[in-house]
Amino acid sequence: MTRAIYRYVNMTLSADPDAEAAIIEATCTTCSATSQPEIGDSPTEQREKAEKWCLEHTGQADDYGRHHTGFRATVTMFWRVTPEEELDPSQVIPTMRSDSNGDQVRGEGEA
Ligand SMILES: [Zn+2]
Repeated sequence: MTRAIYRYVNMTLSADPDAEAAIIEATCTTCSATSQPEIGDSPTEQREKAEKWCLEHTGQADDYGRHHTGFRATVTMFWRVTPEEELDPSQVIPTMRSDSNGDQVRGEGEA
């Protein structure tokens, strides 16, 4: 029989401090061409560049003389969950040892 231990841990969800605030890009729904967001630009700058890219993309006719007018805007944000206490158990590395009969048995060792 397997036993489980449950506990409650308070957690906070917030923007990931190690990631970009947001990545904003536009994709043409006709040909799947995608704007190229500049990493390091603010979300406002990225949105303005994506909008400008859409207008420029529509201004260029494709090989059939058509102008693409539909776009999908994608905003990617990065979040981080911060628990108030450690969630994972300390690292336990299995080790082999000999029992009193000289047989190898599996034990546990702390990392
Ligand atoms: Zn297109």
